Formats: sequence, C-alpha cells, structure tokens
Amino acid sequence: MDFTAARARLIRQLSTEISDELVLAAMARIPRERFVSPGEQQLAYEDTPLSIGLGQTISQPFIIALMTEALALTGNEKVLEIGTGSGYQAAILAELAHRVITTERHLQLVKSAQKVLDSLGYTNIEVHLAEETLGWPEEAPYDAIIVTAAAPRVPADLLAQLIVGGRMVIPVGSRYTQELYKITKRQRKNIVQNLGGCRFVPLIGKDAWEKT
Ligand code: SAH
Repeated sequence: MDFTAARARLIRQLSTEISDELVLAAMARIPRERFVSPGEQQLAYEDTPLSIGLGQTISQPFIIALMTEALALTGNEKVLEIGTGSGYQAAILAELAHRVITTERHLQLVKSAQKVLDSLGYTNIEVHLAEETLGWPEEAPYDAIIVTAAAPRVPADLLAQLIVGGRMVIPVGSRYTQELYKITKRQRKNIVQNLGGCRFVPLIGKDAWEKT
C-alpha cells in the first residue's frame, strides 16, 4: 500500500475543515501507520479511530487535528498530554511545541509508544506511567494541556497545572459521549468554548472515572 499517497489524501480531506497550516504540515510528516496495530495499517489514513489494544483507541484524525489546532502552539511551549495511547498525538505535539510531557496508565502502551517515538527520532517527548494523580505535576505549569480521554468534569488538579493564559482541550461528558471543550485559563473567570460532540475512552483516576 502507498502510505505516502494515502497520507496526502487524508491531509487534503482534513484541510477542508482545519485551517491551521502548521497542524496539517505536522500531520503530513508523521507516519500514522507506525502507530496503529500491524493488522490495521491499511486503515491508517482513513478518518476513523482505530483500536490500539487494551480496549483503547487512537483517535480519529479529524478530532486530533481539531484538538491540536485549538492549542494554538507556536513552537516554544511545554505541553502536557494525558493519555499517550499509541504516541501519535504526542508526535504531532512534538512537531509543534518545544517539549511534550505525556502520561499513560497502561505500562504496555507506555513502552510501545516510547519505542515508536524513539525509532522516529523524537528527543523532546517524555512518556510517563501515571494514573491516579492526573497529569504530571512535577513539571507544571504547562502552556497547554490536551486530555485525550473523557472526563465527567474538568478536573481541578489538571487546571492547576496550566499557566494563566494557557489552553486546555478536554472531552467532558458521560462515559460514552462528550463535548469537546477548549478552556483558556484566566486570573478570574476562565473562557470555555464548546468545539462539538465527540466520543473518547474514559479518563480513569482521581476527579475522573473509576475503573470498571
Ligand atoms: N492520544 C492517544 C489516544 C489516547 S486513548 C493517541 O494518540 O494514540 C486514551 C488513553 O488514555 C488510553 O490509552 C488510556 O489508557 C489513557 N488513560 C486513561 N486514564 C488515564 C490517566 N488517568 N492517566 C493517563 N492515561 C490515562
């Protein structure tokens, strides 16, 4: 299969709805086929979520592009991602920001993401095993935070890890369907924008969902 042509086709398709050229260019550089299960590589450039094992999914490219665009990265930022999963979103962030700290609760996914990110030569991504404590307070505050799992509400512990003026993108709702929020942290009243409906696997931990 010609992955290069398939990737170009997907980027063209995304460009009808995503206007941030930097986000599109970053996605055009990253081989998504390396982040999906070997049996599903032929689907890597369909605009659809795919299973990455352990009941988890790599998100649909359109949603990934939308969330990344909302972070409005310029290249100097320290970014936190909750939910490393395959590592694909972390790779996109690493192309657009200075440093990426990403956390994942499944050790197996930490290891597989680390492996593919190393093999692609990324040196500005740190993958950490974390769960009960949301995020990675050790390195806070962050200029931007992206949560790639669904929360029942915006966790205060995560908002505390964001700088004033920073952006957080997070799916909030029930275990099965959510709204994607962009929150801009301000000294007094935060700005909350709804980017539309979405469907993510649950965020597990304190101030989020319990394990089932
Ligand atoms: N961003 C990923 C997709 C993530 S799927 C990608 O690009 O492939 C959501 C991930 O969040 C799952 O792998 C799940 O294990 C993880 N997760 C859920 N709760 C978490 C928590 N409290 N801390 C870290 N990771 C968590």
